[in-house]
Amino acid sequence: MSAPKTLFQKIADKEIPAKLIHEDAVCVAFHDISPQAPLHVLIVPRKPIPRLAEATVENQEILGHLLLVAGQLSRELCLAKGFRIVINNGPDGGETVPHLHVHLLGGRALGWPPG
Ligand code: AMP
Repeated sequence: MSAPKTLFQKIADKEIPAKLIHEDAVCVAFHDISPQAPLHVLIVPRKPIPRLAEATVENQEILGHLLLVAGQLSRELCLAKGFRIVINNGPDGGETVPHLHVHLLGGRALGWPPG
């Protein structure tokens, strides 16, 4: 029996609505439901890799693709002044959805260090 779909698989399969801004064979991107910056997008692989720490060399192309899409979206969304990429991993990293995803945050000056 196959594993139940993750929340983000259901969004990618359009079973749960989201504000999609990009989709291709490898990933989807949509606006975060609880934005932490004026622009807050999630870039999610269709393949349900749980988190970065569990990615393997077999996932190398997917991981590279997610970053390239982040760069492409930063241009399309006019984030020329800058943006931040975040991947939360595990409880101490703030991960709440166990399906690997890249946060793209921008539209304001972001503080450092993060909380
Ligand atoms: P993380 O805490 O890194 O696992 O990120 C999960 C993100 O998913 C959070 O920023 C949530 O606000 C976001 N999120 C949860 N449910 C939804 C949803 N239905 N649509 C869009 N974003 C969501």
